Amino acid sequence: MRIGILGGGQLGRMLALAGYPLGIHTEVYDPAPDACAGQVAPLVGAPYDDWDALARFAEGKQCITYEFENVPLATAQWLEARVPVHPTPRALELFQDRLLEKQFLNSIGIPTPAFAPIDPTDPDSALERTGLPCVVKTRRFGYDGKGQGVAHTHAEYRALVQRFQPHALIAEALVPFEREVSAIGVRSLSGEIALYPLVENIHQEGILRVSIVDVLPPLLPTHAAGEDATRSPSPRHEHGSEGEDYVRRLLEALNYVGVVALEMFQVGARLLANEVAPRVHNSGHWTIEGAETSQFENHLRAILGLPLGSVAPRGYCAMVNLIGALPPIEAVLRIPNAHLHLYGKTPRPGRKLGHITLRADTREARDALLQQTLELLSRV
Ligand code: AMP
Repeated sequence: MRIGILGGGQLGRMLALAGYPLGIHTEVYDPAPDACAGQVAPLVGAPYDDWDALARFAEGKQCITYEFENVPLATAQWLEARVPVHPTPRALELFQDRLLEKQFLNSIGIPTPAFAPIDPTDPDSALERTGLPCVVKTRRFGYDGKGQGVAHTHAEYRALVQRFQPHALIAEALVPFEREVSAIGVRSLSGEIALYPLVENIHQEGILRVSIVDVLPPLLPTHAAGEDATRSPSPRHEHGSEGEDYVRRLLEALNYVGVVALEMFQVGARLLANEVAPRVHNSGHWTIEGAETSQFENHLRAILGLPLGSVAPRGYCAMVNLIGALPPIEAVLRIPNAHLHLYGKTPRPGRKLGHITLRADTREARDALLQQTLELLSRV
């Protein structure tokens, strides 16, 4: 089995690593010749519009996938005419653009914060829909909190719009969320679907720092507010949590093949979708040691038309990102049940260099390990 991965960052690296035990050969394509996936798999270092290099890359591959959503749509579509590309390039088209993304989510019944495109000739009209405070975001190429800012007043709003122009912009209501969660699901070529448990995510400065996975009780109440909690089972319970329903709906609406991540805000008993990542996701890294089958292996199984593996968690897990600088390796490895992953990248402020997954039999034990890990990192 031979596959190609567009993008050679840590996600491509972990996909390639997951392929080895299954005998899957991966080749990676990235414009940066030193992309870190190149340390574990053959790498083609060429631009995304080098059609000769792309034609050679497509040759002999069963299918091609991608590990980041800013792969140019034209590249994915050009390849799709020669070899299957999973997930469908339609997912790139939708989820590269925050406006198309939210319009699509709403069209399949997944709620989002109120939003409106910002008309450069009449920017204030967007506020009629979102009100203040609001978040101003570039429609394209935003990630890890880049290309966005919060406005509390009209003056701040206009200053932000001016700062980001001439980029196309979207305004969103600023949501007073209790927590941020993500739901990761996978759909295979045959239509089989599996959904990992919901994960709580803690961000700092727009970058994911910690993901926490609780097995029981569920992150969200299984009964809607006001519903009689003693009536059992509730319709919501039967169908799994709201977040899982949303992911299933999204996978089916697009005939999607591969792993998808849906990031959401929890506001009271409601979930509002923030964004979709049409790929394996940072908040799913815990699955390498924490689930029966990792998101990386299940992505490969899905795109190759193989049966999916169990997504059952193997205990209480947490994942901590290593950002900007690394702690002493010996100190991490001394923490019981700490699994260290380093991506082979040169340290730079704000750069994701690796992660640690913690796994324990009880929530209390997991929380103690997490505390110990965060204390260690606070000294770096
Ligand atoms: P994003 O790039 O859209 O994932 O946004 C980065 C982070 O900004 C999110 O993880 C949230 O913490 C925050 N954020 C983005 N949009 C909103 C919103 N509409 N309301 C509240 N917080 C937001």
